[in-house]
Amino acid sequence: MKSLGVFCGANIGANKAYALAADKLGRLMVAQGISLVFGGGKVGLMGAIAESVLAGGGKAIGVIPQSLVDREEAHMGLTELHVVQTMHERKALMAAHADAFVAMPGGFGTFDEICEIITWNQLDIIRKPVAFYNVAGYYDRFFEMIDYCVAEGFIKPIHREAIIVEADPEVLLQKLTGAANATSDDLVDFERI
Ligand code: AMP
Repeated sequence: MKSLGVFCGANIGANKAYALAADKLGRLMVAQGISLVFGGGKVGLMGAIAESVLAGGGKAIGVIPQSLVDREEAHMGLTELHVVQTMHERKALMAAHADAFVAMPGGFGTFDEICEIITWNQLDIIRKPVAFYNVAGYYDRFFEMIDYCVAEGFIKPIHREAIIVEADPEVLLQKLTGAANATSDDLVDFERI
């Protein structure tokens, strides 16, 4: 795994553990030579992980729509900053650049992004592993809902089982690397995005 797409809150969150976790993940990524692919902003957890990667001498690739350059304070010190036109282009370009994806704590934007990557995997539009970095149990309730969806017959167990949920960032990267290595190709079917 050479690059990791990280979706995370444009806010910093109520618990200091979230920003500390972003910092920790960023450091581990640098140590393992994994580039960051992210939303390109300086705000919230997004900014925290970018700072951590850059401070460690790692690569941070941002993808931001023109309309959010001011609102999310596009980071001008990144290794690469791609300014695109639409939210859909943002997701498609992130999907092309990253070998795997992780959701850190976040809100609707984060949910939208990670859920779309999950559905693209379900539909064979891409084939890239997905994980949730479950900092301070942030996603426990989310997965209660997902397990309920499985029990009620709306999500296939195989699709639930494919998602990595992990609180320890070292184990998280280990599992993602294993899953990425086990994926035979890096399919991205742009025609269907
Ligand atoms: P949030 O989790 O709500 O703080 O949002 C995190 C990030 O998701 C922000 O950078 C938002 O701009 C981004 N975002 C929100 N909605 C979308 C969308 N439909 N497609 C791509 N990115 C989005």
